[in-house]
Parts: sequence; C-alpha cells; structure tokens
Amino acid sequence: MVEPSAPAAAHSIGEYLRGYADEDRLRGFRSSCGFVTATWGLICPRCGQRDLVEFDLDRRGRIVACSVQHVPSDEFLNDAPYAYVVVELDGGGRVTGWVATARTDDALAIGDPVHFVSSYKSGVQFEAMPKAETTE
Ligand SMILES: [Zn+2]
Repeated sequence: MVEPSAPAAAHSIGEYLRGYADEDRLRGFRSSCGFVTATWGLICPRCGQRDLVEFDLDRRGRIVACSVQHVPSDEFLNDAPYAYVVVELDGGGRVTGWVATARTDDALAIGDPVHFVSSYKSGVQFEAMPKAETTE
C-alpha cells in the first residue's frame, strides 16, 4: 500500500530545532488567515490551509505561566533553581523557555515582560525586562 505523499516542506523538524540553538532566532510560522504559531507544522490548525510560512517570531513577550525548578535535568544542574516559563510573544505564538535569574517563586509574575536572549545553553532563554523600561 502506498501512502499519499505529503507536500514538500521548506523546513524540517530537525532544521527547525537547530534554529533555536544555532542561529539566535525564534522561528515560527504564520498563515494567510493571520494565525501565528511557534509550533512546527505544515497545516494551519485554524483555517486548514497548507500555507504556513516560516518567519522570525517577536523576541519580546509576556509570561503566561511560570514555575521555579529546584530539581532540574542533568544539563541544568548548575543553573537550579531557575524558572521554567511559557511566554506569549508580542507578535503571536507561545514558546516555552527558562529564566536563569528567577530563583524564587516571587521573582516572576504572570504578565511580566521578558525578552529572548541568545545563550550557549540549550533551550530558549529569556530575561526579565527592567520594570523601568516598561512603565510609562
Ligand atoms: Zn490559517
């Protein structure tokens, strides 16, 4: 039995994941309907079109969920405690990442502005933006 062939993708999951680590970019996709996602895919989950185009996501966003990790994976042993965060990017799309300087439960709050920083560490690293920069 022959599987129906999928459309040729301009990108692969492997290439997409490398983009986070090697190219100092947050790579995402957008559809002509306006849907924006940080999740790799071929078909827009909103409109069903096969028109997802890769583009660079906004580097700034706001925290929508956070949790301080005290028992990290091996790779992050020297960094604990740190905050594991979910960030809603300003231009759309949600990504998970971490904040190295947030070591207590009250260091970050939902809605706090953060920005993506390049790091030799794996994962998507964010930094809290100074409050003075965001208050009018
Ligand atoms: Zn769409």
